[in-house]
Amino acid sequence: MGMSQNLTLEQIRQAPKALLHDHLDGGLRPRTVVELAEAQGYTGLPTTDVAQLETWFRESADSGSLERYLETFTHTVGVMQSREALVRVAAECAEDLAADGVVYAEVRYAPEQHLEGGLTLDQVVEAVLEGFEQGRERAARAGNQIRIGTLLTAMRHAARSQEIAELAVRYRDAGVVGFDIAGAEAGYPPTRHLDAFEYLRRENFHFTIHAGEAFGLPSIWEALQWCGTDRLGHGVRIVDDIESSPSGGLRMGRLANYVRDKRIPLELCPSSNVQTGAADSIEKHPIGMLRRQRFRITVNTDNRLQSGTTMSEEFAKLCEAFGYGWDDLQWFTVNAMKSSFLPFDERLALINGHIKPGFAQLKWATE
Ligand SMILES: [Zn+2]
Repeated sequence: MGMSQNLTLEQIRQAPKALLHDHLDGGLRPRTVVELAEAQGYTGLPTTDVAQLETWFRESADSGSLERYLETFTHTVGVMQSREALVRVAAECAEDLAADGVVYAEVRYAPEQHLEGGLTLDQVVEAVLEGFEQGRERAARAGNQIRIGTLLTAMRHAARSQEIAELAVRYRDAGVVGFDIAGAEAGYPPTRHLDAFEYLRRENFHFTIHAGEAFGLPSIWEALQWCGTDRLGHGVRIVDDIESSPSGGLRMGRLANYVRDKRIPLELCPSSNVQTGAADSIEKHPIGMLRRQRFRITVNTDNRLQSGTTMSEEFAKLCEAFGYGWDDLQWFTVNAMKSSFLPFDERLALINGHIKPGFAQLKWATE
């Protein structure tokens, strides 16, 4: 029971899944990138052949070069500069996640990166919210129910975090459930945006911070103890505070203990972590140890286009590497729901009304 069931990708697709860390500009369909570039007169793409472009995205992300990895986002963001483009990308995002069996997703993007076509920050947010709603309706007609919560991201090298935080709060009753900061970690500590985080706390709003991906413990510590983050975006470098002794035991430092004691959610993204070098391979990803130590870990996609992945594929890779079965996948999923920025009663309704019955049925069917 629950062990080494060799779940297939098809079976995992049937499971009601939840994810908390997915970038809107990291999840476009390759064909959409090509079509939007043409519609907006964007001439910077490395190729307009859909299949070649798909390969190019993945190879650039795999290349080990941060420059090439970041170039992929220049193109996706480059074609997301009109209202129509934003509505379409958001609608397809909702459809694709729903078709993969995701019942709840928090999708994030940085409004400040979508102003080149003349849109205001408010217009960007409204276009994306409208796209999610259109996608949700189309998915429902296809028989797939999904709920999407939006997170607004501020870029950590820029100086608009207070403005973006206020924007997020302004749309809190329209589908924006949280705030985030992203971008290069080194040189841009989270405390640089302390005013924004203090504002959000006074507003009783939720936020997560990309921390502990490229950069280690100081970034995690600042995000938690100075900024008061609810969750850690990646947070995978918390393993730097956990030492294994020759006898096979583990010794955790004060920060690792704090993260585990306080049930701070870690938004782990296995494939992405391997591509950016935060983990050597899926098999060597610290998720195995962190799960055994019962940290509050969640599994996420980060950038589906660049990593050539889906939520189901991330789960399938973990099943293969660690022998996980339905019980593990349900545990990750319930962890994600418990850590989501939805109101408590709505989280419970999804857990008890969809997720647990869905997994129970799958366990029964595959026993
Ligand atoms: Zn991310």
